[in-house]
Amino acid sequence: MKKKRSVQVIKKTSAILLSLTLLLSACGGNGSTTTSAPETTAAETTTAAETTAAEAAGQEGAYKPGTYTASAQGNNGPVEVSVTFSEDAITEITIGKHGETTGISDAPFEKIPAAIIQNQSLGVDTISGATNTSNAILEAVADCVTQAGGDAEALRAAAVETEEAANAVLKDAEVDVLVIGGGGAGLSAALSASQGGASVILVEKLSALGGNTFRCGGAFNTYDPERQKNIPMTDSLASAVDKVLAHEDVSEAHAQLKAEVQKQWDEYKVSGDTMLFDTPEWHALQSIDAGDYEGNVELVRSFTSNTLDTLNWLEENGVEWTDQVSTVVGAMWNRSHQTPNNSGADIIAALEKNATAGGVEIYLDSKAEELIVEDGRVSGAVITNADGEKVTVAAKKGVIMATGGFSANVDMRVKYNQQWEDIGESLTTNNSPGATGDGIVMGEAVGVNLVGMGWIQLMPLNGVSGGGISGYVNSSLFCNKEGERFVAEDQRRDVLAEDMGVPADALEKTVAEFNELVKAGQPDEFGRTTWENTIESGPFYAPSFSPAVHHTMGGLEINGNAEVINTDGEVIPGFYAAGEVTGGIHGTNRVGGNAVPDALCFGKVAGTNAASNE
Ligand code: ADP
Repeated sequence: MKKKRSVQVIKKTSAILLSLTLLLSACGGNGSTTTSAPETTAAETTTAAETTAAEAAGQEGAYKPGTYTASAQGNNGPVEVSVTFSEDAITEITIGKHGETTGISDAPFEKIPAAIIQNQSLGVDTISGATNTSNAILEAVADCVTQAGGDAEALRAAAVETEEAANAVLKDAEVDVLVIGGGGAGLSAALSASQGGASVILVEKLSALGGNTFRCGGAFNTYDPERQKNIPMTDSLASAVDKVLAHEDVSEAHAQLKAEVQKQWDEYKVSGDTMLFDTPEWHALQSIDAGDYEGNVELVRSFTSNTLDTLNWLEENGVEWTDQVSTVVGAMWNRSHQTPNNSGADIIAALEKNATAGGVEIYLDSKAEELIVEDGRVSGAVITNADGEKVTVAAKKGVIMATGGFSANVDMRVKYNQQWEDIGESLTTNNSPGATGDGIVMGEAVGVNLVGMGWIQLMPLNGVSGGGISGYVNSSLFCNKEGERFVAEDQRRDVLAEDMGVPADALEKTVAEFNELVKAGQPDEFGRTTWENTIESGPFYAPSFSPAVHHTMGGLEINGNAEVINTDGEVIPGFYAAGEVTGGIHGTNRVGGNAVPDALCFGKVAGTNAASNE
């Protein structure tokens, strides 16, 4: 069954099946690179010279010496390896061309070849969270073994020395702050808590840090007068502001926010400023509007008023941001900041480095199972450590839940979904395998109020053959199988996507019409308002995309201090949460580029507040 193409029917919009994006890199523009993983060449070589056990393992005459090349299917396409053999051993493994996602594939590319050579065995463990990449390396090396006249089956059965894990194994412990989950929210919380003077333990259930934050494009929405100062305001952008301001009041908090934005907008218009209008309040109002007024206005305001400070704090802690801002898919405004590699991996690397340097103890392969509550206060958690033993971590100042969402948990998707006709196995997810909703289950067990659980976001730009989970729309158009545009590419993610097959003449006509629209810069028939580059000269990229479960908007209710709220509307002492495990920010539809700042802002807030407890 072709799962990726077999989405059924969607209640809210017409049938979403498949879309095509043309992205023009030659025109420059704001980071409008292809969103499918490009073929890359990783010059990563592991040689026997680096190991100690290699020479001992082989049998003389087992191989025809030389270098052999093979490839096997990884996560995003073939992974090529070249393997060099002496008469009796595998001496060198080089990873060649591949389309695997940078960051996620780092651990298998480094560890699997080293383990094969060290043990002269193909029975080495795969890396959790990167199983397909690991298996691709093992299969391709097995192919090379066969080409070299060796016995791949025997090598699969060959013993593997189980080295003492390089990572420490968590034992019963007492600490100020326990952080559960090592994605963006968890690492941000751990770093800020340690900067606040707390002793911190962070547990991550997978073998690698990063979660979805690592996999994503790292787009970070914030108003930013400095970086936005050269972006022109257009009539079509102005019409988008007017449209959102024209929405009827839905609550007092909304009316108040709207009045503030209206005032800012009026002042902007009389000022004669011709550059992009943006403020934290406009970001908040736009996010509330895009989430169909289901988000918590106070919480969203506290979020958008924190984004620039958090961006700057991240910069102080080694995260680089480019000078350019852009519009990631579904962001609807030119405020998406990017790292130099357009990658959340850049953010994770900097946070990990600083957290570790600041004394945060990080334990991988360590899964939180349940929270401990004493006298109504969350005071720790039971963890299954890397040896499979249950241990207890007592946390004097607080526990921060940062376990991410539940896109990778089909049962939970089906249980909570209120939005789509079919959100079960027919849909894949582009999330980390760790996104199984553990924090929601643990939270519920201690009486947390869950909010927005039925809202689940599909990412229209999921590469059919794998690929990234982000994309920028500034210089791209989406078309269907008839080669025609069908949607405003800059709009909410839940309005995108359709079938495709693409006759060339229709596509050519569509591109010509698109270029006229770019030049006109007016809202078009679909309501697209952001226009930047025409598509004139190649190279063009036309990957196929299908929707995938991308983000779960609901979760634990929190307030602006990242304190968790129970079903009676009260703060649960000692309990904080941040990131995708929480609900209340995104309403029915998360704005593209809001997830990373959500996780990092509230992670920082949670860490600071937990550390300040007595
Ligand atoms: P966020 O963006 O909210 O930080 P991520 O998906 O980036 O979310 O990170 C969440 C992390 O939490 C993932 O690395 C995931 O593996 C980890 N995680 C999920 N459940 C548990 C658990 N029970 N114990 C420890 N870590 C967990």
